[in-house]
Amino acid sequence: MRKARTIEGSKRILDLTGFRNGKLVAVSFAGLDRRRAAYWICQCDCGRQVKVLAAELRRRTRSCLACSKPSLKHGKRSWPEYSVWRGLLFRCGNPRAGSYPNYGGRGITVCNRWLFGENGKHPFECFLEDMGRRPDPSLSIDRINNDGNYEPGNCRWATCSEQARNQRRQSKRECSNETAAQV
Ligand SMILES: [Zn+2]
Repeated sequence: MRKARTIEGSKRILDLTGFRNGKLVAVSFAGLDRRRAAYWICQCDCGRQVKVLAAELRRRTRSCLACSKPSLKHGKRSWPEYSVWRGLLFRCGNPRAGSYPNYGGRGITVCNRWLFGENGKHPFECFLEDMGRRPDPSLSIDRINNDGNYEPGNCRWATCSEQARNQRRQSKRECSNETAAQV
């Protein structure tokens, strides 16, 4: 970065032309917002152009949105484990889910790794990495501590009877309900 150079006769606006962070290179000044924060048009290595706040470009924005979004390998959405993962997100995160009162409604959450992913990895990939593929179609995801969250270390693949033994007042009906909710 050319520290000394400024643009448009302003002493405050640093000329970031050519400045690179990750996949982004600043190509042209895009103006100031109401708070006089500078924006730059940046070229991403993927070919897209994005407008980025100068401060963000210098700190953490390293690619366009499409490039930073973790992607899921084609076809994995049809895996049974994908439905299981979607099911737990649904039970914990959507008040419209029939079983929400037993999950999200009583404070059961999903760990950030399975919600948002990590290090550019899709959250479902993280879930798979932690839980492995379901060993048998009769198994569903079980929380070892029934008051604990959906997170590595508190989850296992278990049969309905194993789950019933493990969960305080969870009835067999609820267990099959949980399996059904995973669709
Ligand atoms: Zn990109």
